[in-house]
Amino acid sequence: MNNLIEEMKNYAVINHVPIITDGGLHYLEDYIKKHNIKNILEVGTAIGYSAICMCNIDSDITVTTIERDEARYLEAVKNIKKGNLEDRIELIFGDALEVNLEDKYDLIFIDAAKAQNGKFFERFEINLKDNGTIITDNMNFHGLVFKNEEEIESRNLRQLVRKVRNYKEFLISNPKYETLFLDIGDGLAVSVKK
Ligand code: SAH
Ligand code: MG
Repeated sequence: MNNLIEEMKNYAVINHVPIITDGGLHYLEDYIKKHNIKNILEVGTAIGYSAICMCNIDSDITVTTIERDEARYLEAVKNIKKGNLEDRIELIFGDALEVNLEDKYDLIFIDAAKAQNGKFFERFEINLKDNGTIITDNMNFHGLVFKNEEEIESRNLRQLVRKVRNYKEFLISNPKYETLFLDIGDGLAVSVKK
């Protein structure tokens, strides 16, 4: 299993797949242990790295995870097979904004297109159990959220940064959740349902 994790990390570096940082992952793993989290929904599988790491915490953890990019999805299928986790990781190939789920989860991990964070949150919060948690990755957007707009040259990037900031405002002002913003990894938002 450790070989597989290392292999995936190397693949991610070589192929520029933005997997979660070590710091972010450690926090996530601790949170899952501490809160006895057993079923997880992940938006944004990439090659299955974070899903596999979360499953490895305990043998009764299950993950449902959604990926829209075919090449990454296929890579994730391979990795999940290698890790013998087919029975605990349900991989859904498709756009998360078109996926309807029935189940309820202890934890929802949002780690897909950063401009759509608010949409993912609103689409899947009905799938969150009472007292469940939604964790969003990349709230610092690779450090760009701390820059002045004039410092960001590309118009696209400026718009994305604006959207990440708006999402932060959305979380702060959401009366149904208490959100903590942590400067861990690339920035995590931890939103606990009140
Ligand atoms: N959670 C992974 C990294 C995910 S990277 C890890 O830490 O190991 C973000 C992924 O989200 C990309 O592979 C991208 O293709 C996918 N993605 C972005 N928008 C999506 C959407 N609307 N539906 C499904 N997947 C999406
Ligand atoms: Mg991420």
